[in-house]
Amino acid sequence: MKYQITCSKCGRPSLSLLNYRCQSCDAPLDVEQHERFEAEKIDGKNRSLWRYSQLFPYIDEADIISLGEGWTPLVKFSNSVSFKLENLNPTGSFKDRGSSILMSALHKLIKEADGYISEDSSGNAGASIAAYSARAGLKAKIYVSETVSGPKLNQIQFYGAEVVKVAGDRSKVANEAQKVEKVKFYVGHILHPLFRDGMRSLAYEITEQLDWHVPENIYLPVSAGTLLLGLISGFNHLRESNMLRTMPRIVACQTNQVSPLYHLFKNLAYTPPRRVTSIADALVSVNPPLLEIMAERLKAANGDAVMIDENQVLFAFKELSKRGFFVEPSSAVAYAGYKKQIDDKELSKDDYAIVVLTGAGLKTVLKPD
Ligand SMILES: [Zn+2]
Repeated sequence: MKYQITCSKCGRPSLSLLNYRCQSCDAPLDVEQHERFEAEKIDGKNRSLWRYSQLFPYIDEADIISLGEGWTPLVKFSNSVSFKLENLNPTGSFKDRGSSILMSALHKLIKEADGYISEDSSGNAGASIAAYSARAGLKAKIYVSETVSGPKLNQIQFYGAEVVKVAGDRSKVANEAQKVEKVKFYVGHILHPLFRDGMRSLAYEITEQLDWHVPENIYLPVSAGTLLLGLISGFNHLRESNMLRTMPRIVACQTNQVSPLYHLFKNLAYTPPRRVTSIADALVSVNPPLLEIMAERLKAANGDAVMIDENQVLFAFKELSKRGFFVEPSSAVAYAGYKKQIDDKELSKDDYAIVVLTGAGLKTVLKPD
């Protein structure tokens, strides 16, 4: 068997690609790779994440749903820092890696059942799932909080998804999206193992773009954890396949308002704010369902976590914009995290680092001064 989907807790295999939780104990699922990563498996002519299609063996080539995601530029910012421009993905964020893999794997099964897609996100994931549903010719219902507005909601609606507004907090929105209804297929990006598995491609790309050298330090913003967990899984796969000798040092960056991982990782108590008001408005998971798995795997990978205050995020956002990198404030959290670790002497100025810029600046609701 080339892969297996198993429960992260009880280890039981999952028998359907559609499952987003263990059918025995309800815990999250993981995709295990049984195939080694080998450079010969890369389709070098394909300039999208599908150059690695052989490493996603649960998808048939004929079923691929693509808008040209992945193979984003790794751009030199200074002698020691490069940016991975995930904002240049088709819907303007890294989520397209997950959506493309997920929809490619599932769209036939859902069509055969005459079904539609259900997802809860008013942000980048909602926009991305809406776009890939449109590309696959599937109806999507995107559940959002009734207070939501802004450029990302416009984007979801322009892709033709039906927006369902739900009163109450984030968990109520999720419950409504997951509520069992006939021919409804919940593909929630936070829980679905295939969405997270799509993020593996980012680890492959970064390493290939560095000619198979270890990307010493990687800074990324963390909210629900799909990018973090997918990246760790990709680097683990490269190391187990002897493509890399060591793991990069992966640094999870969070705002002081939304920092449950930072606190758990550092063994500190975390009290979420009553309302998240941070300008990093893509980072909202104060109680992410995968929190313990994140902390455990970040520790096992010898990673680190850093917390940034609001002023540092705004400063980093403005600095990036003024240097030509217009990304959403949530992406600036990763750059702010890098700068903080330099200031705190947890990283030397000369150490090489990659900062993942996750989303496009055109999505921001901020106005210039
Ligand atoms: Zn289980």
